[in-house]
Amino acid sequence: MPHPATPPRRRRLLLAAALLALLAPAAAGCGRPGSPPAKGPRPGDLPHYRVATGFRLPASPTWTAAERRGRLVIGVKEDQPYLGERDPAGGTYRGFDIEIARMMAAALGFPPRAVEFRTIASANRETALQNGQIDLYVGTYTINAKRKQQVGFAGPYYLAGQSLLVRRDENGIHGPADLAGKRVCSAAGSTPYQRIRADYPKAVLVAYDTYSVCVDNLLTYQVDAVTTDDAILLGYAAKAPGELKLTGRPFSREPYGIGVRRGDTALRFALDDALAAAERNGTWRRAYRATLGLSGVPAPAPPPIDRYPAPR
Ligand code: GLU
Repeated sequence: MPHPATPPRRRRLLLAAALLALLAPAAAGCGRPGSPPAKGPRPGDLPHYRVATGFRLPASPTWTAAERRGRLVIGVKEDQPYLGERDPAGGTYRGFDIEIARMMAAALGFPPRAVEFRTIASANRETALQNGQIDLYVGTYTINAKRKQQVGFAGPYYLAGQSLLVRRDENGIHGPADLAGKRVCSAAGSTPYQRIRADYPKAVLVAYDTYSVCVDNLLTYQVDAVTTDDAILLGYAAKAPGELKLTGRPFSREPYGIGVRRGDTALRFALDDALAAAERNGTWRRAYRATLGLSGVPAPAPPPIDRYPAPR
């Protein structure tokens, strides 16, 4: 494996600053001259979700249990800028996935105070849904046939594609075919990890629980690239623009779904209806613009909802 020379002290300091900005998103841009101001939704940009009153879904075991408990528990990510990010100081979550989650909770009759977010890593999503640790999962969760055997999916509500994040000065990686002999980091249990393992066996795969650890490793020259969905990588690149860049074109289709317990078709269809309504009335677009849109990509048309029949 070609190993880059140790960066000089100044460069290391810059890397450390970029890293700090990533780890403490609220402070991003405060430490370095010339770095972009921290971006975030301005008050009033985020849509307000009307909480459905008198909503009932007795055919859904998940909804019924949540209603009895008085709380809807939603699994999310906490270190994915513009998608699912937790403010380490206040503990509040924000991002496009978080907005989708709040939107769905409101449609199911749960006001914000009755919604609990729980951080769950990519590799643990199916188990968390299966054992009832969470009621829903909203966190860059690709719908695919294999996962559909374990859980159910409402949506999709967004279409991403696998891509590559490299250091700004990297000139040798333009696509997955250039990864032979390179150290590539991704999250355990993710579709991007599985795709590199299956289709690009000459890449040297490194797996962690989260992509933010991969990005730390990229900034400190432990790996040569990070691979996952473009939507996720754009957020990291936007937070460290002097250090990181996306390279090449997306090389997969990653339709994001809302994970539910397999077989809870009543809940899945209720979420599909709520998504369709939010897409029609402009709520989806407003939520996108105030969150993921800040990483620079204008609101796309949402992908068609796949209301697939109940599994046998
Ligand atoms: N969308 C991909 C997946 O569901 C990658 C992102 C993630 O790990 O959440 O595996």
